[in-house]
Amino acid sequence: MDTVFSTEEEQRYAERGSSELHAKLRWTFLVAATLFFVFMGLDYQFDPEKLGRNMAVRLLAVGAYLVLHLLARWEPARARVELLLLAGVGVGAASVTRLSVGLRFGELLAVGSLLLMVVMLAALTTSPRQALTSHALLLAVVNVLGPVFGASSLFFFAVNVFLLSGATAGVILAALSERLSRRAFRMELDLEVLATRDSLTGAHNRRSFLQQAEHELDRARRGTRPVSLLMLDIDRFKSINDTHGHPVGDAVIRTLASTCQSALRSVDVLGRLGGEEFAIVLPETGTEGALRVAERLRQSLAEAVVPEVGKALSFTVSVGVAERLPGEGLEQLLSRGDQALYAAKNTGRNRVCAAAHG
Ligand code: GH3
Ligand code: MG
Ligand code: MG
Repeated sequence: MDTVFSTEEEQRYAERGSSELHAKLRWTFLVAATLFFVFMGLDYQFDPEKLGRNMAVRLLAVGAYLVLHLLARWEPARARVELLLLAGVGVGAASVTRLSVGLRFGELLAVGSLLLMVVMLAALTTSPRQALTSHALLLAVVNVLGPVFGASSLFFFAVNVFLLSGATAGVILAALSERLSRRAFRMELDLEVLATRDSLTGAHNRRSFLQQAEHELDRARRGTRPVSLLMLDIDRFKSINDTHGHPVGDAVIRTLASTCQSALRSVDVLGRLGGEEFAIVLPETGTEGALRVAERLRQSLAEAVVPEVGKALSFTVSVGVAERLPGEGLEQLLSRGDQALYAAKNTGRNRVCAAAHG
């Protein structure tokens, strides 16, 4: 399966991955805060003498994880998922290392909590790069802070062997899971195209066009910006079909769609309502602007060459133009656009007509 994405798809994939990672991080930080709180109970149970000294570190870690939990919920932090991940790993590694000083049980506990953290890390990310950076940070923090706090060489050995194997497994798992999630995303993209696009032209299908048009009308309703609709229909299309055959008719329809698409702005919405009838929503465009666009389209379509047939075959379209009136819904707007289209047909075809107001 093709998992190479276009720039835009790649961006959507990254955005989705980062919002999923945010959701996972939120919960992981909450779990980590709870765990470090529970560790205080273990300190008291097994080493009551050092409870005071440990408690400060434990509470710092609990507080830091709660702050990270809040940061991960916070909308503006969405772009900085790597920093959150690194901060979480840093807090964990630092507080575990701080507590490893000299005592056997503490060391055991420290290695145990590191194991937990590596497992959590491996479950968090599907990007090998993120997995690699977080594991590298874990290793760096433990190896830098360990000597500062005088951790024993046994602790060092155990932790490094353990972290290195955890990092290797984590990166391999992330690479495998990234492949799966890219495949799933590709299927999602393909399904989206199947559900919203017309297979002959790639324009929005009827249902998707009506949805997009409704959306644009909503936006116009909320603001003071105008929105206009064009209705296009190929002139005497039956005779093109009859003279050249259905496949040539299809080629004409495709040429119409691609010519329109390249003449329109990216915010304009082109839909195939059925057969050789198309509609276009022009956001932030009033009657005058819409008439200009319609006339430009009519001319470029009259000059368009159908590639499968060559220069000999040309076709024309009639266009109806309607600007949304205050208080008007989609159905009424479509119906006025239709009336304008029929006026264009009835007054000789290959022309643009504006709808009556009201
Ligand atoms: P007018 O100028 O009044 O629009 O005349 P017309 O011949 O274009 O009339 P109309 O719009 O009613 O014609 C629609 C024709 O389009 C009928 C149908 O055979 C043809 N058609 C509909 N869908 C397709 C399609 O997907 N491919 C092809 N090749 N033809 C289609
Ligand atoms: Mg027609
Ligand atoms: Mg028609």
